[in-house]
Amino acid sequence: MIPREFEYHVPKTIPDALRLLTQFGDEAKLLAGGHSLLPMMKMRFAQPGHLIDLGKIRELKGIREDAGTLRIGAMTTENELIWSKLVQDKCPLLVEGARLISDPQVRYKGTIGGDISHGDPANDHPALMLALGASFVLKGSTGQRVVPADGFFVGTYATLMQPGEIMTEIRIPVPAPGTGYCYSKLKRKVGDFATAAAAVTLRIKGETVQEAAIALTNVGATVLKAVAAEDSLRGKTLSDASIAEAARLAMSICDPVEDQRGDAEYKTAMAGEMTQRALRTARTRAH
Ligand SMILES: Cc1cc2nc3c(=O)[nH]c(=O)nc-3n(C[C@H](O)[C@H](O)[C@H](O)COP(=O)(O)OP(=O)(O)OC[C@H]3O[C@@H](n4cnc5c(N)ncnc54)[C@H](O)[C@@H]3O)c2cc1C
Repeated sequence: MIPREFEYHVPKTIPDALRLLTQFGDEAKLLAGGHSLLPMMKMRFAQPGHLIDLGKIRELKGIREDAGTLRIGAMTTENELIWSKLVQDKCPLLVEGARLISDPQVRYKGTIGGDISHGDPANDHPALMLALGASFVLKGSTGQRVVPADGFFVGTYATLMQPGEIMTEIRIPVPAPGTGYCYSKLKRKVGDFATAAAAVTLRIKGETVQEAAIALTNVGATVLKAVAAEDSLRGKTLSDASIAEAARLAMSICDPVEDQRGDAEYKTAMAGEMTQRALRTARTRAH
């Protein structure tokens, strides 16, 4: 299908982009990699009269470490994450997750900021962000705020971001050395979204779990943080029994919709399976 006619704007700075957002209000949409927005425009689910392309704003690019925090510009592409030595060294979970997003074409253009801002429960970054304890910098015409990933995703395609705001940066506390991690994703074929996936980070001391974070992709209206499953592991040894119990608790919060990837029962079972696999792999990587 063909999208509605629109005017195309290419601001060079964040203040210019914010001015355009204020000027055109509900008629405006921000364009990042376009891999979610353009299909929606072609199907006329989104019909903006003004597209504001963020692609020429230098401040939105780049990855750096600052006082134990990775600071990633919202317009950083999936491939830039994957190729970054800094991210490989400091946050391999993010590399593992980004590598599982779609196919090379999507990863060349799709951005971390777009993936998060879109608020799609099928997208992979939301679960990675919850497992990593990330926060997001949102700029508006009256200033900026920093909001935690936990609580940011409020519904399908709905986040805490207000009209007139731009996500400028993703902040990820560098996981402590020895943190176990895994993103376990079931997909039908290369290029597909998750049938179900689990992102895990794990701190183990001796045999005892100190901290566990578990987040689930595409098994609810939003990404899900499996809080009861996390709590069940803290202070315990990671055994077959405790892993199975955490998976059971993770499954208990799933409420997926039936589609071509399977019915609710199958997807819920796969969320449990992905949780178990992610925990087992994270355990082998923790030290
Ligand atoms: C075939 C295919 C398969 C895919 N498979 C996967 C997958 O397996 N996993 C996955 O996670 N994703 C997948 N995607 C989605 C892909 O990762 C998109 O790139 C991503 O969802 C959106 O990022 P984008 O940069 O393309 O954003 P865009 O499509 O340009 O924008 C998406 C939305 O976010 C808003 N937005 C973008 N940037 C900002 C910002 N900085 N501040 C505020 N709002 C902003 C836009 O206005 C728009 O509403 C797939 C896409 C395709 C086409």
